[in-house]
Amino acid sequence: MAIKIEKKIKGYNVVKPEDKAASAAAPAAQPAASKEAPKAEVIQMHESLERPETLVGSTYKIKSPLFEHALYVTVNDIVLNAGTQHEQRRPFEIFINSKNMDHFQWIVALTRIISAVFRKGGDVTFLVEEMKAVFDPRGGYFKAGGVYMPSIVAEIGGVIEQHMKTIGLIHDPEMDESTRKLIAEKRAAYEAAANGKGAAPAATETKTESATGFPPGATLCAKCNTQALVLMDGCQTCLNCGYSKCG
Ligand SMILES: [Zn+2]
Repeated sequence: MAIKIEKKIKGYNVVKPEDKAASAAAPAAQPAASKEAPKAEVIQMHESLERPETLVGSTYKIKSPLFEHALYVTVNDIVLNAGTQHEQRRPFEIFINSKNMDHFQWIVALTRIISAVFRKGGDVTFLVEEMKAVFDPRGGYFKAGGVYMPSIVAEIGGVIEQHMKTIGLIHDPEMDESTRKLIAEKRAAYEAAANGKGAAPAATETKTESATGFPPGATLCAKCNTQALVLMDGCQTCLNCGYSKCG
């Protein structure tokens, strides 16, 4: 076979018999390597991923004083790389059901857009912060436990956050032992002071407390949005997250 040389020859090698043997062995080695490859391939979330016939999911109930009927929020997950060390659950779609038809159109729009973002892949946890920051101009409401919800959208965001925590997509910053101990101490001191001061019977006090889990009269903490802020020694102290502001 004739080869036309169009460029200048800058160097050369003499092909030795062992080089020929090596190049003959190389194509044989290639298929072996590609056979190994699928094992190491990790499937990530992307939009062309086909929906499997069956998905696993959870349904959460939201009861808000702003809505006549309860909302049922279903988040379905896809399990990627099942059975491998890279196995992970990723949210794939969201549905919201309610008897209430007043909000039908924006709920449908919201769920379709959230589902589309889920399927795009990448970091989808930002949705939680975006939604939790939405406030209703007519005013929010308190949930059981004294947590303030600025809107129904924020509560749906809260549900998605809860779901992402369950499947391990969001990790709760663990409250360290010293903070927990400090809160417990502050709480004990506050309750001791309240009991000593007030002649109110203890029975009614525990009753009112059980509604939110925090002392009656506690105000809203700006840091954790929970009605757990009490005044102690001239300092506003949150009995939920430990936030404290003096003066
Ligand atoms: Zn707080």
